[in-house]
Amino acid sequence: MPKMQEPKNERPTSLYFVPEENLIACDDLTALPYLYDETVLECITARYFTNTIYTWAGPILVAVNPFKSINGLYSDQKISKVFTLLKEGHDHQDPHVFTVAGLAHKRLTSEIGLVNQAILVSGESGAGKTESARFLLTYLTQVEDDSSCITDTSVLHRPEDIKNKILASNPILEAFGNAATLRNHNSSRFGKLIRLQYSQNVLKGASLDTYLLEKTRVTSQPSQERNFHIFYQLLSGIINGYVEGIEVDEEISFNIMPGLDNRDFKQDLLYFKETQKAFRKIGIPNNIEKDIYRVVAAIMFLGNISFQPSSDSESWTFSTNEVSQKSLARACHLLRVTKETLQNTFTKKKISVSLGKETSVIYKYFEREDQCEERRDALMQFLYISLFNYLVDAINSKICDNSSSHYSYLGILDIYGFEAFDENSLEQLCINYTNERLHHEFTRRYIASEHKVLIEEGFMDIPFVYVDNTICIKALDSPISVFSILNEECQLKRVLNEDDACLRVCNALQNTGVVTPAVSRRNSGFLIKHYAGNVSYNSSGLLHKNKDDLPLDVISVLTESSCEFISSFSTRSRKEEIERNENQGRKSVRKITTLSKFKSSLDSLINILGYCDLHYVRCLKPNSRNTAGNPDKSFLLEQLKSNGILETVKISQAGYPVRMLYMDFVKRYSFQRKQDFNEKEITYVILAELYGVDENGHPPEQKCRFGKTRIFLSESCLHQLEEHRSYQR
Ligand code: ADP
Ligand code: MG
Repeated sequence: MPKMQEPKNERPTSLYFVPEENLIACDDLTALPYLYDETVLECITARYFTNTIYTWAGPILVAVNPFKSINGLYSDQKISKVFTLLKEGHDHQDPHVFTVAGLAHKRLTSEIGLVNQAILVSGESGAGKTESARFLLTYLTQVEDDSSCITDTSVLHRPEDIKNKILASNPILEAFGNAATLRNHNSSRFGKLIRLQYSQNVLKGASLDTYLLEKTRVTSQPSQERNFHIFYQLLSGIINGYVEGIEVDEEISFNIMPGLDNRDFKQDLLYFKETQKAFRKIGIPNNIEKDIYRVVAAIMFLGNISFQPSSDSESWTFSTNEVSQKSLARACHLLRVTKETLQNTFTKKKISVSLGKETSVIYKYFEREDQCEERRDALMQFLYISLFNYLVDAINSKICDNSSSHYSYLGILDIYGFEAFDENSLEQLCINYTNERLHHEFTRRYIASEHKVLIEEGFMDIPFVYVDNTICIKALDSPISVFSILNEECQLKRVLNEDDACLRVCNALQNTGVVTPAVSRRNSGFLIKHYAGNVSYNSSGLLHKNKDDLPLDVISVLTESSCEFISSFSTRSRKEEIERNENQGRKSVRKITTLSKFKSSLDSLINILGYCDLHYVRCLKPNSRNTAGNPDKSFLLEQLKSNGILETVKISQAGYPVRMLYMDFVKRYSFQRKQDFNEKEITYVILAELYGVDENGHPPEQKCRFGKTRIFLSESCLHQLEEHRSYQR
């Protein structure tokens, strides 16, 4: 055997080349013979061009948004086929979102002792998460219904409408929680976990949790984006005579509703009818439905109220402008409050003054217009978020089955992916923190399952290479962390200084290596090295959003409403605040901040996932223009990195990036016929000739390992084999 040259540093270019038909046929990225970013990317795009949008990456489903409908991809026949094959024991099926639903469902219903399941759908905005979640739900509600799929006939006696109610929750949540953005014309502005409840394999109901609705959109929308769909839907409903008791002038415009210029309400009207239908399917009473519309319309009118200096020039009052006056009257009518109530809340604030032992209340007029506007906006946001929470509770009360405490459940999580914009604020901090936590869970779990594969192959000791993001999570949420400092700043009774707070964050956490100062053109801030990339957070607005101050006198506007539905919002808000304080065991009123609220909701999410088998659907956007058939490779590569797919594939081949069945190895590298040996033995002979053997009689372990069914090769070993091969030929 000739003496082998030492491997060069660069990878042999010939290795990148895998025939196109092989790439298209390869339905699992971890089975690619050569594992480089380029081959993964080539595989995904080659398949995409043939309308094959799904590929496995080990146990994970990778889905590339087709931005067009593909014939038969989600047909009832497809559902039946997946279900039947799984029932017959064919767990290794074509990659498809139904297969993921089917596998989770099968695990849930066939396991002794019952194991909860969760399917995590992730990806950036517009990547197809919500659509995927919808298909998952379609499969899960359909296999229950299709009698050809059912073996247990008791299923047929299940109250039929629970499935319809669960499905009806979607249009309602989308109307109130989705908006048209630059990235997605139907972008979900909240995270959602729906848990289907099963008892003795029968779907009994579902429960819904939502996360971080983007409430700032109610009062200000990024340029070229719209407000939540419901505003446009309702307006078209009113104009077309589908809503009683709310008047709008045909030509009026609403400050909080950009994108009304073309006044084409046809599409919005169709969606409005769907929302109305969903309310009825789910069983929201007619009078409550009217109250809901009234609150939405009131917010629209509140947004048109403006202010002007009073005659004394030292304070502000409502503007005499006609639109503002009319809107004020309509808002008061809809909210069932008086003009004075609104005037008192928007233009002055209540201050408690202690004089000796006595405390008295005085009112101080605002000196600036923006202070009045801030009050108005706070009320609008409060109304909207209260309405959203009310709807989530109402849906839960209709779909959740409380008749037993022994359910197993199957959850579908549709949650925002990692975000890194030019300007990032508290919303991105929460979103990226979510992704850090989920990624942590994913690595922890995935490594565990990968470990199992290696143990099955007979290895107990192969090291794993992966990004451990524990340090970043600690820097974000431990007792001395970004969260703790930003929370502390909000407790202090002093004027908020956002730049100083960011400086404190940087100084306290500089040793972590994860947080560094970041200075943009306008503000200072901090940069966090997330597992998916670096993100600079802007100081501006950070503390205000975290403090999320809702002045009590804003809430008290609602207390004064003669409409019970509206006044209940303030009672509920007070009750929640008291409960939270009690839960935290504090007598003193310690401010609940946005971050502390968010962290605790995420803790409970992670806790729920801890009791579930996890399944993953990673959605990819083919290009930033949302068009079909134009995959942009560098854009895809970014996402493959940030959602951990490349890492997953690499973890699965950790240390030994090349894994080949003995048969394939022999086909490629054996040039002499060795009649009396089996394929594993031939592989052994070839590698022993190449490297010699150690004291145990094996070729060196850092080059290769012999599994039960396949050989595991290091990259340098592959390189040498390839050179040897070209030399032989
Ligand atoms: P996300 O929830 O990730 O922001 P969506 O699920 O709302 O993204 O998808 C954005 C748009 O992409 C959808 O409105 C739809 O037009 C298109 N889309 C997503 N998934 C599919 C699919 N599987 N087939 C066809 N079109 C899809
Ligand atoms: Mg979505």
